[in-house]
Amino acid sequence: MTDLSSQAVPFIVAIDGPAGSGKSSVSKAVARRLGYGYLDTGAAYRALAWHVLERGEDTADVDAVLAAAADFPFSQGLDPDHRAVLVGKTDVTDAIREPRVSGAVSGVARVPAVRVQVNEAFRRIVAESDFPAVVVEGRDITTVVAPDAPVRILLTAAPEVRAARRAAELDAEDAGAVAAALHHRDAKDSAVVDFLTAAEGVEVVDSTDLDFDQTIDAVLAVIRRAASPLQQGADNG
Ligand code: C5P
Repeated sequence: MTDLSSQAVPFIVAIDGPAGSGKSSVSKAVARRLGYGYLDTGAAYRALAWHVLERGEDTADVDAVLAAAADFPFSQGLDPDHRAVLVGKTDVTDAIREPRVSGAVSGVARVPAVRVQVNEAFRRIVAESDFPAVVVEGRDITTVVAPDAPVRILLTAAPEVRAARRAAELDAEDAGAVAAALHHRDAKDSAVVDFLTAAEGVEVVDSTDLDFDQTIDAVLAVIRRAASPLQQGADNG
């Protein structure tokens, strides 16, 4: 659709939201649909948590987290269809989704120096990208990582809907345990970043009553609205 190739730096679509809001799958689908890159910022936090565990340490130990972060050869692709997450030469794309990593990740995400380090890496990855635009998805993208992004969206859904989606995604037998783990992680995460309230200028897309395709359409509509004045400016200039 919109040709943004004349932009000097990639156009950023910033999408925040809690787990189970549909944020990852919707962001990926939107990127695919528009030929944009896709950056899943949670993957960096997960990869660091994996790295801490791999070193035999605990993410509750801030010094161990900082030591692991100082020796963290992380890389991540932006292609929505081939985005291997690597720590050194190890492909951790699947391993970082394991419950043991989900359970440990808030420990690394709450360390301010870690956030500064990964945020710098995100900005660098996006700036060096060949994509004309990148959908960047996470918890603090609309507020901290890319507060000036031309499109900023908070994707939400009611807690019970989020828990049910996450349980289905994990193919879990014990939906109650999945819901409890998700709420526990939300509670820990929200002490660090308020990802349940939209900052000024951020558009809320509530997916509670929307199916997957409807949510994609709602996000595309926000992008179209934001991109058209920019495109007109580029065409006129
Ligand atoms: O989105 P995902 O569930 O993969 O994120 C994993 C964890 O990474 C979150 O629970 C949160 O602790 C952390 N995170 C964060 N800021 C982001 C993205 C993820 O703190 N921008």
